[in-house]
Amino acid sequence: MAYVNDVILQVIKRNPNEPEFHQVIKEVLPSIEPLIEENQEIKNIGILERFVEPERQIIFRVSWVDDNGKTQVNRGFRIQFNSSIGPYKGGLRFHPTVNIGIMKFLAFEQILKNSLTGLPMGGGKGGSDFDPKGKSDAEVMRFCQSFMTELHRHIGAELDVPAGDIGVGAREIGFLFGQYKRLKNVYEGVLTGKGMTFGGSFVRTEATGYGLIYFMEEMLGEEKKDFAGKKVAISGSGNVAIYAAQKVQQLGGRVVAMSDSNGYIYNQNGIDIEEIKKGKEIERKRISQCYLPASNTKYAENCFDIWSVKCDIALPCATENEIDEKAAETLVSNGCIAVGEGANMPCTPEAIEVFLKNKVLYAPGKAANAGGVATSGLEMSQNVMRTFWTFEEVDAKLKTIMQNIYKKSSEAAVRFGHKGNLMVGANIAGFEKIAHAMLAQGIV
Ligand code: NDP
Repeated sequence: MAYVNDVILQVIKRNPNEPEFHQVIKEVLPSIEPLIEENQEIKNIGILERFVEPERQIIFRVSWVDDNGKTQVNRGFRIQFNSSIGPYKGGLRFHPTVNIGIMKFLAFEQILKNSLTGLPMGGGKGGSDFDPKGKSDAEVMRFCQSFMTELHRHIGAELDVPAGDIGVGAREIGFLFGQYKRLKNVYEGVLTGKGMTFGGSFVRTEATGYGLIYFMEEMLGEEKKDFAGKKVAISGSGNVAIYAAQKVQQLGGRVVAMSDSNGYIYNQNGIDIEEIKKGKEIERKRISQCYLPASNTKYAENCFDIWSVKCDIALPCATENEIDEKAAETLVSNGCIAVGEGANMPCTPEAIEVFLKNKVLYAPGKAANAGGVATSGLEMSQNVMRTFWTFEEVDAKLKTIMQNIYKKSSEAAVRFGHKGNLMVGANIAGFEKIAHAMLAQGIV
């Protein structure tokens, strides 16, 4: 469609050197063409042109002093991409690879993901090229305080509510919240993923991983399949990976491989998840230090080779573009029946093609990993109501939300002639709500 192509070309021209942002735009825009054909107003009032341009982009210097008394300078970002259905909402990532293009791709995905949850949340994302790895708690605290000293001007419980992502967990959220409260002199739910003693929600820690598995259960269930007895390879060993692994085990599956950015461990008899959880969450170890040589679990360098481990189900839960065409072909030839994206955009477009061509069930991240932000939405509700729901209550709400996301995505795929293609379904179902809100709110 010429209109869609023109918008894609404009994005590439206006945002040079941002390959991840281009990648997500090239994935999403063509898949929503059928909706645009049905509703010419989208074109007439430039919905797409506005949809691909962030409402606001904030870039700032973050200066802090390390334990040796040396001044360090990092760069901070917050992309407030789209607020048509609610306040901006999306995580903060602290990782050396963070740049404006990665922030924009993540914020753009977040718009559609948040829309799919059915909760009133707009799309945003932020972070820094700061690397928390190897830093002392005091250094992480000083960095977080400096980061928030600028960010606090741009966020608020009714405006923009950040959360965690890669490199931002309970420790960082605590430091960020403390500094926000001190600067603004208000106690409000400005961040989610907070500790349970200061406004956090049950299940937020587990939510993305558990939500991924709830989504996969729906997808597998449609084919009369389930996790029982299945061998599952999970990349990463962070927040998403650990709780996806835990839920897989609870459902009778066997986690045969996990990784970090240095390498992966594997064991066809199953990995001891509690051992990994303790090593990663409490002792902050590398995965090579978590495995027990006596237990027949093996370690290999090169994290991306994890996809050569024979498995029935693959759950990429580490980072973007970690499954390329070759890895996808290896998974298919090893008999993999389903792939679920816990991470954001972990499969390249070529890899997705391989899965679709070979009838491998494919769960796109914006739908399958939406459980984290959905539970953040539930945390926001509890903060406003000044109440707490029990673990069981939040878990039940999360499960219902994931079932609904599956249903919406799958029905949209059928409605627009792409039965079984959840990528197309999730993009259309997510965009539909945004487009209606943008149409109603005029040209802003
Ligand atoms: P964590 O920081 O808790 O864990 C990230 C894991 O992925 C670590 O094991 C890390 O290894 C590995 N990893 C990170 N970057 C790379 C890389 N460039 N190459 C190889 N491995 C890497 O992050 P999360 O678990 O929170 O996030 C993982 C993914 O899930 C991300 O894509 C994130 O955007 C997405 N996501 C997270 C949500 C959440 O609620 N946390 C919600 C929705 C999506 P190492 O320790 O060696 O760096």
